[in-house]
Amino acid sequence: MAAYDLIVVGAGIVGSACAERAAAEGLRVAVIEPGPVGGGATAAAMGHLVAMDDDPAELALSRYSLQLWEAYAGLAAAEFSRCGTLWVARREHEYDGIAAKIARLAAAGVRARRIEADELYRLEPALAPGLRGGMLVADEAVVYPPRVALHLLDRARAGGADCRLGRRAVALSTQGLRLDDGSELTGPVLLATGCALPELLPQLPMRARKGHLVITERYPGRVHRQLLELGYADSAHGDADSSVAFNVQPRPTGQLLIGSSREFGVEGREVSWPMLQRMLERAFEFLPMLRELQALRVWTGFRPTTPDGRPYIGAVADRAHTWVAAGHEGLGVTTALGTARLLVDQLLGREPQIDMTPFSPARSLR
Ligand SMILES: Cc1cc2nc3c(=O)[nH]c(=O)nc-3n(C[C@H](O)[C@H](O)[C@H](O)COP(=O)(O)OP(=O)(O)OC[C@H]3O[C@@H](n4cnc5c(N)ncnc54)[C@H](O)[C@@H]3O)c2cc1C
Repeated sequence: MAAYDLIVVGAGIVGSACAERAAAEGLRVAVIEPGPVGGGATAAAMGHLVAMDDDPAELALSRYSLQLWEAYAGLAAAEFSRCGTLWVARREHEYDGIAAKIARLAAAGVRARRIEADELYRLEPALAPGLRGGMLVADEAVVYPPRVALHLLDRARAGGADCRLGRRAVALSTQGLRLDDGSELTGPVLLATGCALPELLPQLPMRARKGHLVITERYPGRVHRQLLELGYADSAHGDADSSVAFNVQPRPTGQLLIGSSREFGVEGREVSWPMLQRMLERAFEFLPMLRELQALRVWTGFRPTTPDGRPYIGAVADRAHTWVAAGHEGLGVTTALGTARLLVDQLLGREPQIDMTPFSPARSLR
């Protein structure tokens, strides 16, 4: 029976980051992944590295993680592009709320500044007329998440990790884990299985929140920054069964990535044309020129969502040697590196750099 210091289940961006960190600490690591590395929610993501200010705990985690992302700014495989984030205010109350947002971000160490309407149109001439202003977070960036996951797993492997690709974990045991080929691995288990968490650990609730994305042909220079409406957080953190928000990203290739939609209670991967239309109509309201562009591909993905919207990061209180890092919803790319470091700190008995109480799986155990 093979024995390890940590058995990571799932090689999305979160599991791969945890495996990389644990291997870098000199631990004997195994990684189990039945599908392509970074092929789950990670492959569907936009790859925007962004600080959201509406939950102080998540802001602290994002800020911590964003600092760690700086080490990847020069890595070709990450396709890191520091395009910045431009939040756009359409309504007066959105514009009025900018000062408080800037203060909340500043308190967490994220620099942002208010943009008046004339500067908004100098920065992004394609925006629809009549917008009130915005907020620029100049240091934020975008990456290509599945390639980062692969890079992290390669680093874990170079650090000695035993990567069992093509294998699925089928059950937790008192000693460790059983795989679909009947083999048993012993050692502490880290569940980084995203939406699939309840299959192995039904005590922790998780819902899948479907999203659609569209990518266009190449139109370099039309949009320069990641553009979001200031009402985005209402869509991202609200509990509505379905919602859409304006969210457009310029890829380093010159393509535009258009989001975003959110739906609970939908299981199939197929594209919903009414939802796609709703999402695009929203985007056209802010960037009318999008109507003229050619879409190349549309896809869907599922965000792993906990009841309170915060990821589970830490030990599972009622099971010895079982850890979890899952449920990062729409911020899992941003927060993967921080999650990995904080998880491994806890595993090694070190004091994590931020307060982990809000992320303790104990809060949701049933
Ligand atoms: C449309 C969309 C847009 C997004 N945009 C962004 C964004 O711009 N910025 C951002 O920060 N985040 C974004 N996200 C969120 C982000 O994609 C997720 O939070 C993140 O990818 C979650 O990573 P993960 O590793 O936890 O899960 P996953 O990537 O889903 O990985 C889980 C892995 O576990 C494996 N697995 C499952 N069961 C088993 C088992 N029994 N045994 C072994 N392996 C198993 C799966 O095969 C999978 O590879 C977006 C998500 C979506 C859907």
